[in-house]
Amino acid sequence: MRNSTGPTTPSADQNRTMRDSVQELKNNPKTSVLIIGGGINGVGTFRDLSLQGIDVTLVERGDYCQGASGASSHMIHGGIRYLENGEFRLVRESVVERNALLKLAPHYVKPLQTTIPIFSTFSGILAAPLRFLTHRQGAPRERGAVLIKAGLTLYDAFSRAGGSVPRHKFVGKKASLAQLPRLRPDVKYTATYFDASVHNPERLTLDVLRDGLAANPRSRAINYVSAVGSDAEGIVLRDELTGDVFPVRADVVVNATGAWVDGTNSALGQSSRFMGGTKGSHIVLDHPELLAACAGREIFFEHSDGRIVLIYPMGERVLVGTTDIDTDMDTPAVCTDPEIDYFLDLIHHVFPTVRVSRDSIVYSFSGVRPLPRHDDTQPGFVSRDYRIERGTASGRPTLSLVGGKWTTFRALSEHLANEVLDLLQRGRTVSTGALPIGGGLGFPQQPRDVAAWVEANGAGLPAERVKLLLGRYGTRAADVAAYVADGEDSPLQTTREVSTRELEYMVRHEQVHHISDVLIRRTALAFNGLVSAELIDEVAGILGKHLEWSASVREYEIEDTRRVLQEQHKVSVHSLVA
Ligand SMILES: Cc1cc2nc3c(=O)[nH]c(=O)nc-3n(C[C@H](O)[C@H](O)[C@H](O)COP(=O)(O)OP(=O)(O)OC[C@H]3O[C@@H](n4cnc5c(N)ncnc54)[C@H](O)[C@@H]3O)c2cc1C
Repeated sequence: MRNSTGPTTPSADQNRTMRDSVQELKNNPKTSVLIIGGGINGVGTFRDLSLQGIDVTLVERGDYCQGASGASSHMIHGGIRYLENGEFRLVRESVVERNALLKLAPHYVKPLQTTIPIFSTFSGILAAPLRFLTHRQGAPRERGAVLIKAGLTLYDAFSRAGGSVPRHKFVGKKASLAQLPRLRPDVKYTATYFDASVHNPERLTLDVLRDGLAANPRSRAINYVSAVGSDAEGIVLRDELTGDVFPVRADVVVNATGAWVDGTNSALGQSSRFMGGTKGSHIVLDHPELLAACAGREIFFEHSDGRIVLIYPMGERVLVGTTDIDTDMDTPAVCTDPEIDYFLDLIHHVFPTVRVSRDSIVYSFSGVRPLPRHDDTQPGFVSRDYRIERGTASGRPTLSLVGGKWTTFRALSEHLANEVLDLLQRGRTVSTGALPIGGGLGFPQQPRDVAAWVEANGAGLPAERVKLLLGRYGTRAADVAAYVADGEDSPLQTTREVSTRELEYMVRHEQVHHISDVLIRRTALAFNGLVSAELIDEVAGILGKHLEWSASVREYEIEDTRRVLQEQHKVSVHSLVA
């Protein structure tokens, strides 16, 4: 891939494959800013700084979006529940960012109708104000209608600044059961409001990254490269694909390694105790009855232990989550059996007549939230706000990011970039506040506009195919369509979801190195439960051809993909045995 000579596409970055070679980094080891960590916050900061004309190098030890950013509940939300922790700044910023992302990334960020079923009128009304006045936690109490009404009214007030989201609605038992007939019959009210969901966080992260690469030809981003140390020559990096170790000299180092910030600082020779990540898991269900019971809405509610949990439709599947458990960073985060029991129980809590068993689980995922250290606070009440800590490594200033949600990544990146600019004594020249992201640029939404776009950008492919690509890549679909049309193409034999040329496009332009990159992060094949042993073999054949894998590398890749899917995502072993 690094020496790709394949057909070109008409995109702005057509002559730059996304994998800037490690060799090039070794040859030119100097950069203004080194960002460590390719989650959404590192990538967002990369884009922001590149747009200011700063030369930035970003390294990610695995694949982009493989950490917390690929394990979220897919909500782009104001965080109504943070109001009870008194986090007004964060909620206000989140609501503004949610409204902005609906406009800037409409290809992936969509309005999400959210319904809270409520089973009591007054519960919790004293607990919440007391919690944010006294910062005590007390035993969780059920949140009643009056409390939720007060929270939603405040939430609406914050939302008004951005304009586009309708106010919440409260209805009584009869209307609630008419709208959601499978709800628990003792429901007293439902409150319905709008937040947003990000349908494809992994692809949105890539879009942000590619914007950064396009903005400054001297910026570089490389996955499968770790920061492992520091010495007199600079920060020591390791190429995880070859084992090569080499230094990079940066004027400023940004540690955006999420829950791993302290470990990274320790590797760089500075001690910190900033982080206290908590693990959260999700399951994905193929369950048409549950899907229908949700009626297209997110059901957001309090489970019997006082935790706020969610059930919501993502395409043909249902996402259920999440947990919030203190964790040890040395153990990989996976969804455990007790967590699955908890999820099945919470479904039963609101939809008692919908029978769901483990057999319907097609995928699971787990991640660690990059929360601040919280010695005496229960995980659910730890601040979700972020801060930036200054330090030094290899004689150069470092900035460590502590916290940061998906929803606020653009604003956070702006804050972090401002601190970097301050250290470099440079000024901001471009605001990202109104800048469309990736395939969100010119994304058509009305049927007539979609038809016109498809006609103008389809490169002669059938209209239905181009529409599908538009849904998957936003207006970057023009590049993909041109690439697909420029060679021999056919759907995979094992699934019609993607085609051979589309996979080839990913290899050439999206830094794919492993089969799991494709199944988990470049496509939603794993999330949707569409992976089989045959599909893994077929994808291995296509990737292997373009990445020039030997037979033994190909075999290793197949085995490793099966292992990752089984151990980390609970994908049924049976479907993986050829
Ligand atoms: C269960 C769960 C549910 C969530 N739900 C939501 C939600 O609905 N909405 C919302 O807004 N937010 C949500 N969040 C929070 C949000 O996902 C995270 O806060 C956000 O994605 C953090 O992004 P990040 O870039 O800071 O960290 P990460 O995405 O964790 O990225 C850090 C990256 O650093 C890399 N790295 C680590 N060490 C090194 C090294 N030495 N060298 C190179 N790279 C390294 C890691 O591989 C990783 O990719 C949720 C989080 C979890 C876990």
